[in-house]
Amino acid sequence: MTNVHDNILGLIGNTPMVKLNQVTKNIPATVYAKLESSNPGHSTKDRIALHIIEAAERQGLLKPGSTIVETTSGNTGFSLAMVSIIKGYKCILSVSDKTKPEKIAYLKALGAIVYVCPASVAADDPRSYYEVAKKIAAETPNSFYINQYFNELNIDAHYQTTGPEIWEQTDGKITHLFGCTGTGGTLSGSAKYLKEQNPNIKIIGVDADGSILKTFHDTGKIDKSEIHSYQIEGLGKNLIPGALLFDKVDEFVRVNDEMSAYKTREIALKEAIMGGYTTGAVVQALMQYSKNNSFTEKDLIVLIFPDHGSRYISKVYSDDWMAKQGFSNNCVHNYKEVFKTEFIK
Ligand code: PMP
Repeated sequence: MTNVHDNILGLIGNTPMVKLNQVTKNIPATVYAKLESSNPGHSTKDRIALHIIEAAERQGLLKPGSTIVETTSGNTGFSLAMVSIIKGYKCILSVSDKTKPEKIAYLKALGAIVYVCPASVAADDPRSYYEVAKKIAAETPNSFYINQYFNELNIDAHYQTTGPEIWEQTDGKITHLFGCTGTGGTLSGSAKYLKEQNPNIKIIGVDADGSILKTFHDTGKIDKSEIHSYQIEGLGKNLIPGALLFDKVDEFVRVNDEMSAYKTREIALKEAIMGGYTTGAVVQALMQYSKNNSFTEKDLIVLIFPDHGSRYISKVYSDDWMAKQGFSNNCVHNYKEVFKTEFIK
């Protein structure tokens, strides 16, 4: 029997790559998207959920009936909830109030207990989702705190899987890797593996307007005046994550909510790939990078597309939401026309 699995966890990893043919056609290089939405939990986070939980099991830190605790922008939560069901753990998650109700419903559908915390408070505020998760982990007997922002196994999961997959899928011909950084695990682990194979591969991190990661990379300093709230979920941070290997990133590109939103919709319209908001962010970063750096036909660029667009239907794919943000100047299409709904009475 082929492609038959004992349970859903057997589907994690080995995600496909798809060539982008339209949105990047002004760039002479070949551009591939690595579709992390093909994981069973529809994001890159399945890899770390499984890797961290299985490492904890090997160390005797988790036993059937234990409780898994974590902070999450949604995706890590889906993955942890999925792995918890199969392995018999309870799952408690703290999310920020930027998280859309459908994401919270999804987490609950997978049996997780969810705490919603204010996004606008400092990371060390007792109401922040980091502090709430820490407190729950400290107060819940037989619990295990995943701590994705400071867990080296987050990097290792991608060093063991995502990096080697990209190397093999491109026959070692990759020249540039672009990836969004939240915890930094996806890009850092992939970059560490790829640079070991070929140190000339350029690694480009994508940061959000409102986050401190790019400036920290460029100057070694935290500039708190840069911190402001923004809409892209899962990208950028108001703290320095231990899972981000800054020395493996050659350059950071910072993108904003508006341009990333247009790009997300453009990718759906032109490539028929329903990606999440950070899918638009990573393509937008490539566009910005290509203004200052020229590519040749020999270049092979890989963009990591972190998750699936179904999670953003009431956000970046909603005309009302776009209008509320003041994003009406779609440079690709008149989206009002494209997304017009005709009601037959
Ligand atoms: N995109 C989305 C939608 C995410 O949820 C995350 C995870 N926070 C990322 C990108 C960034 O991944 P990482 O945490 O591995 O840097």
